Amino acid sequence: MKVVFSEQQLKHDPQGFVSSGAQADNPEKPQRAECLLTAALSCDLQHEYPADLGDEVIAAVHTPRYLEFLQNIHPRWSRVPGATAEIVPNIHPLSRSDGYPKSAVGQVGFHVYDGSCPITADTWHSARWSAMTAAHAANCVLSGDAACYALSRPPGHHASQDVAGGFCYLNNSAIAAQLLRTKFAKVAIVDIDVHHGNGTQRIFYERDDVLSVSLHADPERFYPFFWGYANETGTGPGAGFNINMPLPRGTGDDQYLASLHDALARVREFSADALVIALGLDAHEDDPFHGMAISTTGFGAIGTQLAALELPTVMVQEGGYLSDALGENLASFLAGFQNT
Ligand SMILES: [Zn+2]
Repeated sequence: MKVVFSEQQLKHDPQGFVSSGAQADNPEKPQRAECLLTAALSCDLQHEYPADLGDEVIAAVHTPRYLEFLQNIHPRWSRVPGATAEIVPNIHPLSRSDGYPKSAVGQVGFHVYDGSCPITADTWHSARWSAMTAAHAANCVLSGDAACYALSRPPGHHASQDVAGGFCYLNNSAIAAQLLRTKFAKVAIVDIDVHHGNGTQRIFYERDDVLSVSLHADPERFYPFFWGYANETGTGPGAGFNINMPLPRGTGDDQYLASLHDALARVREFSADALVIALGLDAHEDDPFHGMAISTTGFGAIGTQLAALELPTVMVQEGGYLSDALGENLASFLAGFQNT
């Protein structure tokens, strides 16, 4: 199996984010990717650099206005007297149909939904290469690879068509799924990140060709709070094609694996032709977000269950933050996936 990764993804290095109202140290660090690359190589994955597939693969999922915003906002913001080095919003519209201002400050509020998504001078560059990594991995699977691991960073599953949030700018998993659709009629996305994949949900919410399944800590008391409830099942043609499985805080291996078993039954029922795994590793017991208590061994069992679907598979890295176990969790997942 290949691991797709470009060092260009490391340039984005935001220092802060807003946590409970205070500026805090940003945990979405470039070192995450270095740790995960080392782990992937230790599992004998072959490193491949992503090709530049052009902005079209990104524009298949995101709006032109949003992409123009991401490319240009940092120099525009920097011209505002007294502006900070890292862009963080301070005002938001109540609805997506509200007015679209010309002001840089106003547009930041429109396109960034929370305080955990600072934009630096390098954000567009790295986010674009993170998207290319996912797209390249999807292309490998389109060309016949049984599975491919996209080491995408910054992550993507909280970003929707025109909104960034939760350390995510471009939705890498959605970009991979959309590309897989050029060959495969039905694509399933299974999101195992501890946080609900609200951006992915929104992108495919009205579609019946991409099934979105997310297992995550119950949003009643966990980020992203407003989305991820079991009654969010899709609308229009997409009705019934969005599945949320909120799990209690502190969920361990046994309960998680039983829920995953049920989730994958829905993927089989859907008759998916290809699979995207939104591979968050932050459900681990030592992850700094402490949403669940999955063990390192548990990630191996999760990988084995997903491999049993026997589908062409793109794994797209999502969350998972620095702890002594981060690399071991990826290695366990990959070993579990490959040993079936
Ligand atoms: Zn997460």
